[in-house]
Amino acid sequence: VFDLLVVGGGPAGASAAIYSARKGIRTGVVAERFGGQVLDTMGIENFISVKETEGPKLAAALEQHVKTYEVDVMNLQRAAALVPGDIIEIKLASGASLKAKSVVLATGARWREMNVPGEKEYRNRGVAYCPHCDGPLFKGKRVAVIGGGNSGVEAAIDLAGIVAHVTLLEFDTQLRADAVLQRKLHSLPNVTVITQAQTTEVTGDGTKVNGLRYTDRKSGESRHVELEGIFVQIGLLPNTDWLKGTVALSNRGEIEVDARGQTSVPGVFAAGDVTTVPYKQIVIAMGEGSKAALSAFDHLIRTSAP
Ligand code: FAD
Repeated sequence: VFDLLVVGGGPAGASAAIYSARKGIRTGVVAERFGGQVLDTMGIENFISVKETEGPKLAAALEQHVKTYEVDVMNLQRAAALVPGDIIEIKLASGASLKAKSVVLATGARWREMNVPGEKEYRNRGVAYCPHCDGPLFKGKRVAVIGGGNSGVEAAIDLAGIVAHVTLLEFDTQLRADAVLQRKLHSLPNVTVITQAQTTEVTGDGTKVNGLRYTDRKSGESRHVELEGIFVQIGLLPNTDWLKGTVALSNRGEIEVDARGQTSVPGVFAAGDVTTVPYKQIVIAMGEGSKAALSAFDHLIRTSAP
């Protein structure tokens, strides 16, 4: 039986595991893919105190740091169910099951993709998902934002202050963002909004993005916009399908946590992109992971026999 079992091996999970192991308690990490989203990232310039790094490098450093402690790392294992109780059970897809006195859920999230030709090919070469992360890379260039919900319109407003021009494309006849955001957006001189636009292709010159193609759903015509970057903002999907019905989730499917990372289930804490905590970033996920582990430790010293 683990004292603390962490589910997820991204920045939040790694941080929780290190904080837990440093308390001298029996710690395990089960992860489908150790490193998480960081593995899919190229340049990282906002990991504070490290001016510049690359995703795979940071992921390797996370793993190395975790492995300097006595942590049982079970990589390439997917958790399929959580059974609450005094001893919490995590059932794995492989059929095995793990038991723990406390659990930190840190299964992260994934950006919804457009699923159009060129998107995967030009990912990190013009196709981006995170304006806080990659916005400055497009300083003085032309970009598109796909999606007219709150995150798309916020991204467009944010980017308009950095880049030369922003084209915002919305599939529907109107934007879905809050009115105050739409007013702000429309007041900006370097933003063009196109509604009823269905993106059909990301175009490029073989090494980087040079535009995008969309269908004007009103006229049926196909159009091409020349630009250097595309920010896809059509949703962030938390990896919580396996928790439905056991842990309280928000209407977006994020695990609801309080300021200590406590979920609705006693002994179960959560951290990082999978939770309701705002702003999905590496430094935030790490901070939240350490917090959840400290909360779990606090829970253990109050509930377990010595
Ligand atoms: P994740 O990194 O998503 O890790 C989740 C972990 O859980 C993984 O190990 C995964 O395999 C595992 N997992 C999922 N489901 C299960 C399951 N059922 N069972 C077991 N394990 C499971 N942030 C920045 O701060 N700066 C940047 O420059 C930056 N650039 C980015 C670029 C890209 C392309 C992307 C996609 C994201 C970027 N981010 C950046 C965001 C950052 O990567 C995330 O905020 C951060 O990784 C979240 O950490 P996490 O530990 O909460 O989740």
